[in-house]
Amino acid sequence: MDLCDQKLKKIKDEVIACQKCSLFQGRKYPVIGEGNHQAKIMFIGEAPGRQEDASGRPFCGAAGKILDDILTAIGLNRADVYIANILKCRPPDNRNPLNGEIESCVPYLDRQIEAIAPKIICPMGNFAAQYLLKKYGLADQISQNGKMPGITQLKGRIFKTNNLFGEEIKIVPVYHPAVATYNINKKPILIKDYQIVANLL
Ligand code: URA
Repeated sequence: MDLCDQKLKKIKDEVIACQKCSLFQGRKYPVIGEGNHQAKIMFIGEAPGRQEDASGRPFCGAAGKILDDILTAIGLNRADVYIANILKCRPPDNRNPLNGEIESCVPYLDRQIEAIAPKIICPMGNFAAQYLLKKYGLADQISQNGKMPGITQLKGRIFKTNNLFGEEIKIVPVYHPAVATYNINKKPILIKDYQIVANLL
């Protein structure tokens, strides 16, 4: 095991034992993250849904099928990338994450990003985009009248910043794949935006 594997294993063990918010009570499995530990791209979703909770794997339900189709369309597959979420445990009835839950959980994601050190981070959907743009100090630059724009204004834009090691990284927010499960006509728009991410490689 190299240092990155060791760090990810430690995070996994801590998440399995985590009781920092109440979501651990209702979960079957936490969904820690999956993929290539040397990935240049990390995709960050929101939180596990029913199927992810039942299996412990990210994006294995309807949104996951769309994500797989998008990855194939842009010439990537899961073995090339790392996929994680803002929350590791499923919120009841798939409700939105609460601020307290996000605050408790994101230190795990921060450490996953630090261990993998991707060149590109692709937050999928509003919750992930808001968190990552704030984390990398981009909120002030992006805000309009003191308010952060939503994902529709942010998607497909390339934000340059530096990681903890001072290396340049790019953050490219995109729509959450679940968008296309509600409206299949949106799928080509998603593919176009995700293609921007693949083109950066
Ligand atoms: N939606 C997410 O945001 N993450 C998952 O893992 C599954 C669905």
